Amino acid sequence: MLRVAISWVFIFGIAFIAGTADDSVAKPRILVFTKTAAFHHDSIPDGIKCVREILAQDADVDQTEDNTLFTQENLSKYRAVVFLSTTGDVLDDAQQRAFQGFIESGGGFAGIHAASDTEHDWAWYDEMIGAHFAGHPAIQQAVVIVEDRSHCSTQMLPEKWQRTDEWYRFKRNPRKVDGIHVLARLDESTFEGGGMDGDHPCMWWRDMKSGHCWYTAGGHTKESFADPLFREHLKQGILWAAKLEKPVKSATIQSKTVQ
Ligand SMILES: [Zn+2]
Repeated sequence: MLRVAISWVFIFGIAFIAGTADDSVAKPRILVFTKTAAFHHDSIPDGIKCVREILAQDADVDQTEDNTLFTQENLSKYRAVVFLSTTGDVLDDAQQRAFQGFIESGGGFAGIHAASDTEHDWAWYDEMIGAHFAGHPAIQQAVVIVEDRSHCSTQMLPEKWQRTDEWYRFKRNPRKVDGIHVLARLDESTFEGGGMDGDHPCMWWRDMKSGHCWYTAGGHTKESFADPLFREHLKQGILWAAKLEKPVKSATIQSKTVQ
């Protein structure tokens, strides 16, 4: 009888340990997609490293260039998919259907930089991304005017954020697209070649049915992924897309000074 009791203690003990171990590894998962079918940014490895680091506490990050992972079954493992400087036609029709279904059923999308230079001919993606890439001037410094700091991805930013990047212009103004909420725009008087008639959004969000979609136009340069403010902006944007964000603290917003 004693032996039976010891066995049960042993079995429950193992079950308890296994349960504890499962809890500790069961972080939400984020997929970083980096397939390029056109221009390939050499900052992509820096971007992958950055996303892994900034999400280390919150999520397990997988990275791939393999579009065959875009199936309903595989995407269902993830809270959000990050398109990190993807370019061109990267998904076939079946993969597009799987991805659209993933987003519309509550999965998240975070697009970085050339995510807007991706899938130009896919109407649903065009609606989701809000605006497609049209071109860019030379890399230079510019002032980003943060319009909405009530969002977790912008609360840490100064109202005027001076930084250097490759500043995309877009085929249309996303502010005029139903459902798009612009978070920040570029001050076109602060750099050469803006090309959007003075209203130049550079980060925004929208919902596609129950999925959160977020885009930031920065992230061309390797240096972007080492910039603490850009990293925190990215982190919070991805967490928001994945519905893992923490509530915005209003005191944090008020304490920021204008630079
Ligand atoms: Zn670029």
